[in-house]
Amino acid sequence: MDNILDLSLEELKQWMKDNGESEFRAKQVFHWIYKNNQWDFEKMDNLPKGTKEKLIKCFEIDIPQIIEVYKSENDDTHKFLYEYKDGNIIETVVMKYKHGNSICVSTQVGCRMGCKFCASTVEGMVRNLSSGEIIAQILKAQEKIGERISNIVLMGSGEPLDNYENVIKFLSLVNAEYCLNIGQRHITLSTCGIVPKIKELADKDYQITLAISLHAANDELRKTMMPIANKYSINEIIEACKYYISKTNRRITFEYALVKDVNDSAQSAEELVKLLKGILCHVNLIPVNKVRENNFEKSPTNNIKNFSNILIKKGIETTIRREMGSDINAACGQLRRSYLKSKNYLRGV
Ligand code: SAH
Repeated sequence: MDNILDLSLEELKQWMKDNGESEFRAKQVFHWIYKNNQWDFEKMDNLPKGTKEKLIKCFEIDIPQIIEVYKSENDDTHKFLYEYKDGNIIETVVMKYKHGNSICVSTQVGCRMGCKFCASTVEGMVRNLSSGEIIAQILKAQEKIGERISNIVLMGSGEPLDNYENVIKFLSLVNAEYCLNIGQRHITLSTCGIVPKIKELADKDYQITLAISLHAANDELRKTMMPIANKYSINEIIEACKYYISKTNRRITFEYALVKDVNDSAQSAEELVKLLKGILCHVNLIPVNKVRENNFEKSPTNNIKNFSNILIKKGIETTIRREMGSDINAACGQLRRSYLKSKNYLRGV
């Protein structure tokens, strides 16, 4: 059975037409789902009985179950562990800020990019999530916190540009007025740097923020951290970013996870300055989260400050990411892994 959350309004209108129903019913159905959190066709009161029956026969509204909730003691971060109907488990993080609620969604179950410091990728990729499955993470989280979510970051498990078609559909749906109506400027897509897809995304002329997981300023070092660096060089990434900027006029975010004695020296900072000079960008320094599966250690606070100061002095706008939810394993993929381990679903406990 098809998941109705995977459909655009146009597609549901077409379905209505093909099934002898009025097109305007499509908008009513989506209003129930997206504006009223009503996920039972039976209870959509303004639909005729016959329409409901056809919908029930053809579609499901596939909302994952929340199987665990973790609330950070330090800040207003909630982490939800979701289970889809095929038993796959993913994680989503909601961060409550004064200016609105932000959600970090997963785009794949697992990941096949193999970054050495990341927990999502340890067991490889299981499958892509459909656009509707990604949207459902937001719907369910909104219901759970009882508030609207106004910002999305695609920074959970998975590589969004490795699930390109579904992610593009997701972006167009969440932005649509009839769906979640979240402005493109409130959406950030983070990628490890799949160059051809960055260019394709640029051609869409969306106003979303592109974040690049750079983590090193030279290819040699980057290759030791991220296998994707063997496929695309930093120069190719920078060139794709310049193209993205030329098409969208949007400032790029470069993410740089600071790892003790690996990429956190003053020399690395100078190298990064050279690389990014003159590019419309912003650097987000991330004190790396310790993951059980590897030996990457967080940089000492002093190194983080020095690194940041060098960038700022040389005119590169820089922020240090607040470590929200670090007490609840809020780094990419950590929670899913520890949950699966606790249930003995994973090898090598
Ligand atoms: N695949 C995409 C998006 C998911 S990862 C990407 O690579 O950008 C989201 C961000 O978290 C990336 O910048 C990633 O490099 C970073 N990350 C992963 N594991 C981390 C860890 N242990 N500590 C800090 N950041 C981590």
